[in-house]
Amino acid sequence: MLRHIMILGCLLGLAGPALAGEAYQFPENQDEADFIANEVIATFYHELGHGLIDVMKIPVLGKEEDAADTLSVILMNDIWNEESATQILTSDATAYALAAADPNLAPDESSFADVHSLDIQRYYAVVCLFYGANPEVRKQLAVNLGLPAEKLDSCPREYQQAADAWSAVLQGTEPGPDKKGLVMAPGQDGVPLADLLAEEVKGMNEKFGLPEEISVIVADCGEANAFYSSSDKTITMCNEYAQDLQKRWDAQPK
Ligand SMILES: [Zn+2]
Repeated sequence: MLRHIMILGCLLGLAGPALAGEAYQFPENQDEADFIANEVIATFYHELGHGLIDVMKIPVLGKEEDAADTLSVILMNDIWNEESATQILTSDATAYALAAADPNLAPDESSFADVHSLDIQRYYAVVCLFYGANPEVRKQLAVNLGLPAEKLDSCPREYQQAADAWSAVLQGTEPGPDKKGLVMAPGQDGVPLADLLAEEVKGMNEKFGLPEEISVIVADCGEANAFYSSSDKTITMCNEYAQDLQKRWDAQPK
């Protein structure tokens, strides 16, 4: 999930990802639709992390994928009110939990060697960071999401360290007249996933001014994925990614 595949990005960059033939439509069930929308937002923040690392030439100490996951939690914590942020984090954690429980995605050697941490590790990492950002209010959430009691102590420090690090490397990204920003690729108005992301793009442009433009596109990719391409400065959110989230939600034991 969320494979940051540079080679694929380059390949797609040559031909350009196919704009969606038939736009993904959110399901009628509100809980399911919220889960998918929230997770698309969390994933968009993750891909934006790759984009910022690229255009701001941010040094990466450790796994870039972990850094992108961390930024995703920082943004959901910073941007949203407590209730909405909690819903987004819960959806994000749920997506990792569903992936971790999927027998088709059982970890093997390629997972251990992958650029991403294991889904179950990503689950605990995002829960720990989110809890650590506001421990007085979020303890019950962390307990409900199964964060081990012995882990609770270190999360506030881990969050602070991560937030300080991202804040330091994002110095100078305030919006301004000489700055560029995120832009939705044209021709996507009325596409539900694109409309959702357009709101996020608007919010991010109030927060960040960038040296280069990053475009955002919703497309058919041929696989359930979302990725940033450094070759054409594009975040692509695949229709198949939303479809896959929906499939996984539907497959939960009722
Ligand atoms: Zn990634």
